Amino acid sequence: MKKESKVILQYDYIAHKLMSSHIFISPHLDDAVLSCGDYIKHLVNKKEAVKVLTVFTGYPNAEIMTEAAKKFHKLCGLAEDMYKYRCEEDCAAMKYIGCEYKHLNFYECLYRIDKDGRSIYPDFDNIFHFEYELEQENSAVIQEGIMQEIIKFDNVYVPSAIGNHADHLLVNLAVNVIMHKLKGKLFYYLDFPYCMFERCIDQVNDCINKYQKRIMSVTEQELEEKIEAIKKYDSQINMLFENQQSMIEVVKKYAYKFQLLEPAICLLEV
Ligand SMILES: [Zn+2]
Repeated sequence: MKKESKVILQYDYIAHKLMSSHIFISPHLDDAVLSCGDYIKHLVNKKEAVKVLTVFTGYPNAEIMTEAAKKFHKLCGLAEDMYKYRCEEDCAAMKYIGCEYKHLNFYECLYRIDKDGRSIYPDFDNIFHFEYELEQENSAVIQEGIMQEIIKFDNVYVPSAIGNHADHLLVNLAVNVIMHKLKGKLFYYLDFPYCMFERCIDQVNDCINKYQKRIMSVTEQELEEKIEAIKKYDSQINMLFENQQSMIEVVKKYAYKFQLLEPAICLLEV
């Protein structure tokens, strides 16, 4: 081997060693991109190692489908194979951003049942709280599943559960329990679009005041790429934003909420 190529190989090895690793925990198939898509793209552009871990991607068979779940499927305009379709949307978004990803295949709140087989969240309109008692066993299993995936990463990004969605709360609480075992830094991200809702202003402020605020700048190009990545989650856009144009407006409003001249996201360092 020529001396020059040996030096380059050594340089690559050192660069790889210096590269940080990042894992974004996404409760559902869209949360990480909605909340941090531009920052994820920013890290990918810096050649950092980035992975998105989506927790609730599992799908029960039709016989045990709750009424609440059927209502949700109808709202998304999707039938029984909804999760297959949503996983494909996610694959397209991840491919577009250029990061690694994994689906943990746990059931989201509308599909979760207690030990007696009863639906834990039987009402589609009442999922913005956490059923501590009924969720104990599910929480323990999900906690373990998340733990195995995130333990080795230098930086772990977790939803702060703004909006109190049961699944976001479960992920947030699960990581809080295991955080002392993590080797890397822990950051909370603000759950978008919930963090832009009028009803969530106090919760956002409480969160920001409680932790160390880190404003992470991204480029306009990375913001545009976030918008393109969100468009891949076609089944969710109308439900979350009414239409694509209002999605773009709210995404931009959030990106310029923290500093005037450059788009950014707000992270909270624990
Ligand atoms: Zn979500």
